[in-house]
Amino acid sequence: MKEVRAKKKFGQNFLKDQNVIANIIKEAEITKNSLVIEIGPGTGALTEHLVKEAGKVIAFEIDTDLIPILEAKIKNDNFILINKDILDVDINEAIALNIGTLENVVIIGNLPYYITTPIILGLLEKNVKASAYVFMVQREVADRLTAKPKTKDYNALSVLMNYKTKTKKCFDVSPQCFNPVPGVWSAVIKLTPFVYEVFPQNEKLFYEVNRAIFKQRRKTLLNNLQAYGIDKDAALNIFNKLGFKPSVRSEELGVTDIIKLSDEIGEL
Ligand code: SAM
Repeated sequence: MKEVRAKKKFGQNFLKDQNVIANIIKEAEITKNSLVIEIGPGTGALTEHLVKEAGKVIAFEIDTDLIPILEAKIKNDNFILINKDILDVDINEAIALNIGTLENVVIIGNLPYYITTPIILGLLEKNVKASAYVFMVQREVADRLTAKPKTKDYNALSVLMNYKTKTKKCFDVSPQCFNPVPGVWSAVIKLTPFVYEVFPQNEKLFYEVNRAIFKQRRKTLLNNLQAYGIDKDAALNIFNKLGFKPSVRSEELGVTDIIKLSDEIGEL
């Protein structure tokens, strides 16, 4: 194959380690009943395995120069390649058009690091009907996405992850497994969507309160709520009702605590 020059602006670091590729495929638990959506197939390192395992694979690649390379490499009938920015794709529509008699949807990608967060948030907020997501991301992003309360990595994104999915950090990946070699370690994560046991009275308000309370990490929950426009006495009243200490910090709160907090704020 002709040598491909990686483009920095598209976050291109191509996987070359066959063990890592095999382990990603294993985590995805794909069968002939799976519709697989791949984000950023690149030169097809993962794609060539996906088309063997899955019922159907749809891949979205932004880089027009990679399209002929992928078309020459992957000629399977169950492969659809689309030259499009994933952020402009209506994934629910793509699934509806392609699911046919297939039984589950797996979304997979060695994600371009410059847009990891918008891709993941976009998928979760659109309530895409996927049974699992398997993504390669920067290791520090993986730590944040899978962080538990009371740890330094826990933030608004971790709360959202814990609310929408069962999150698992599968394994770390060394920079040497890519070409070109990136400056940071990566990690593979698996997200399994589920319906959280408590539902907020107003989901949009819950997202807003969640973002607001993590705005200034060094401050207490009370300070963050005041910055969000909540009166101090009203906030302390809510703390009393919910059993929070006045000095509580946002990173001490679990998903249910934040849902209850947003429900109380909605009553003000
Ligand atoms: N999957 C390949 C691999 O593992 O070797 C490539 C991974 S590379 C880290 C990220 C890929 O995403 C590149 O092929 C890049 O061109 C593509 N990409 C970047 N931004 C994109 C976007 N907005 N929409 C779709 N693909 C994108």
